[in-house]
Amino acid sequence: MIPGLPDDIDQIKGFLAEDEAQALYQHALQLSTLGPVLEIGSYCGKSTIYLGLACRTNNSTVFALDHHRGSEEHQLGEFFHDPALYDAGEGVMDTFREFRSNIRRTGLDEVVVPVVAGSEAAAKHWQTPLAMVFIDGGHSMEAALTDYRCWTTHLMRGGVLAIHDLFEDAHEGGQAPYAIYRMARASGLFEDLGQVNSLGLLRRL
Ligand code: MG
Repeated sequence: MIPGLPDDIDQIKGFLAEDEAQALYQHALQLSTLGPVLEIGSYCGKSTIYLGLACRTNNSTVFALDHHRGSEEHQLGEFFHDPALYDAGEGVMDTFREFRSNIRRTGLDEVVVPVVAGSEAAAKHWQTPLAMVFIDGGHSMEAALTDYRCWTTHLMRGGVLAIHDLFEDAHEGGQAPYAIYRMARASGLFEDLGQVNSLGLLRRL
């Protein structure tokens, strides 16, 4: 049992299996003693809460990066579109309101630092070494490559790169996360820590 985990965590919108959530928490619990954690693609904050609870234990920080306009598959008319997260006035997705509400209700406002921006813009002047980078952003090849290129360079030695939504079979899901996972493994820069469900874990050498 994770201290501080809301009883209704399953009610929070998101796409994260229980075993993946536990793995994120356990890694963040160890790594946040070394530095902050960065998550790319926070959506409504489900995984952010697991990372945040781990970081709170070590008085560390989660940077939660998301433009909060939804990924390709969340847009109006797409398969994973949620009308409750659509701002009809602006004609855009807006997951930030729901995200903030979930973080506040979990008491993580002092631990979770939202970065409401695109990946490339946020990385432009970034200098802080990161103990853990969790890539769970857009699933287009361009988005996944941008996330990989922009953020793995900031991972400290001994830090962990986690990549969500790895599907070897294209029928199960998009191939971009798996492509950057393979790139990372082939780079010689990481020790392979294996997979938990669709979550890949690699340690920066
Ligand atoms: Mg995901």
